[in-house]
Amino acid sequence: MSMRIRPDLDTLPVYVPGKTFPGAIKLASNEVTDPPLPSVASAIADAAANANRYPDNGMVELTDELAKSLGVTPAEVQVGCGSVILCQNLITITTRPGDEVLFGWRSFEMYPVATQVAGATPVQVPLTGDAVHDLDAMAAAITDRTRLIFVCNPNNPTGTVVEAQALRAFLETVPSDIIVALDEAYFEYMRLSEPYAYDALELRREFSNVVILRTFSKAYGLAGLRVGYAVGDPEVIAALNKVHIPFTVSSVGQAAAVASLRAQAELLARTDAVVAERERVTARLRELGYRVPDSQANFVWLMLGDDSIPFATACADAGVIVRPFAGDGVRVTVTNPSENDPFLAFAEEWATRR
Ligand code: PMP
Repeated sequence: MSMRIRPDLDTLPVYVPGKTFPGAIKLASNEVTDPPLPSVASAIADAAANANRYPDNGMVELTDELAKSLGVTPAEVQVGCGSVILCQNLITITTRPGDEVLFGWRSFEMYPVATQVAGATPVQVPLTGDAVHDLDAMAAAITDRTRLIFVCNPNNPTGTVVEAQALRAFLETVPSDIIVALDEAYFEYMRLSEPYAYDALELRREFSNVVILRTFSKAYGLAGLRVGYAVGDPEVIAALNKVHIPFTVSSVGQAAAVASLRAQAELLARTDAVVAERERVTARLRELGYRVPDSQANFVWLMLGDDSIPFATACADAGVIVRPFAGDGVRVTVTNPSENDPFLAFAEEWATRR
């Protein structure tokens, strides 16, 4: 029997995370390998012991800690069940069916999916040949139906960042009533110098339509607990708060995020090792003849075109799960030498086999 389910959902792809198998090295989801710090694990256990109670729906303690750590007011912060939900909620607060959501492509896969779920229209502007956001082309693609723009920086899956001046010029061009979501899920891995260095919080102060998205899933190592946050104008945050589904950020997630913020220095110090590995992995891949743009995230992008699926399939046969995007490239998470080296060994074998 056929149900009265929206027919436009037929064309929606199902989100398929990298499949894994016992013993495999999983470099497909940009996770970190370090488990939570003891102080965070103990906060998790305490919260879990009280799991019979609903979480704090206002997420007050976490919001206050975040505001303090970022130098903003709590009215400028919205916590969500992963930053992916905040992406969706931004679409919810800005669009009606037929409105447009603009973003570079290729980028985070959930932008088009969440846009279509909302009945809005995704407008995808191709990246440059160097896999960087083409901000001029994005500015040119703004129409009177544009309601929201995502700029993913560093971009998932390419790892690339835009030049600071280009970003500023873009923000000056975008009408001030269109929200620009600066998705910085990989913020903690950026080591920017000229001409790329920028301060998102400063841009957010200057441009009231800028909303910054960040997450505890990557550098803070809490991917399994689903906590992300948005920093934006109080008007935007109030709207995000209205569409927040009650209790979707668990008490365990909130407690873990608060404890992680209190151990921020120790957790962020871990990113230095990943950054050093990123540089080593990139250099080695280039030596082997791969085309790899500079990455500012905890992954690298191999521009393999039609070889992407065969490469990832053979890599999985060699015990390493990476993330292919058909016809385009392969995204490989960078962790530690004991995981990166088996990947590099496969990449070397593949390069010499060709
Ligand atoms: N934005 C980008 C660019 C991402 O890569 C991801 C995770 N893959 C997210 C948002 C969502 O992260 P989370 O929901 O785990 O906070």
